[in-house]
Amino acid sequence: MPSTTQSDMEVSGLTERFRNPLTLSDRCDECRAQAFVRVFLPSGDLLFCGHHFAEKEPTFVARGYEIQDERDRINKPEGDTR
Ligand SMILES: [Zn+2]
Repeated sequence: MPSTTQSDMEVSGLTERFRNPLTLSDRCDECRAQAFVRVFLPSGDLLFCGHHFAEKEPTFVARGYEIQDERDRINKPEGDTR
């Protein structure tokens, strides 16, 4: 793990966007499968399925990007919002 702190990269406004959950119409930018992870880049959002996010996660984490990870919903039936 790099020793650089990420605290100075936190922007309070970003948390507002986390209120928009990913839906069936959100598709992985790599393979068009249903997206379960959104990455907030300075240039815009990227969407990934669990598979492609896992491949790129170390890069995003190293750069300190905000990540909306909804992979815990992958194996749950749609509409199960307990
Ligand atoms: Zn994918």
